[in-house]
Amino acid sequence: MSADAYLILLCDHPSCEYPEGHWPVRFEPHTHRELRRLLKTRGWRRTRDGRDLCPEHRKAAQ
Ligand SMILES: [Zn+2]
Repeated sequence: MSADAYLILLCDHPSCEYPEGHWPVRFEPHTHRELRRLLKTRGWRRTRDGRDLCPEHRKAAQ
């Protein structure tokens, strides 16, 4: 993967209108793992079965 790849997370809720989660500034380490950690501070959630959910849908999934 390119070091400058643009990383996004996608909400796995089937009817999500704005499924893309990203971080506006460059961060290190530039990995999906770190992106998840950052987005968690904005309400994103990684479920136990491996899905990513945006702040809106994390509630619906609980
Ligand atoms: Zn969603």
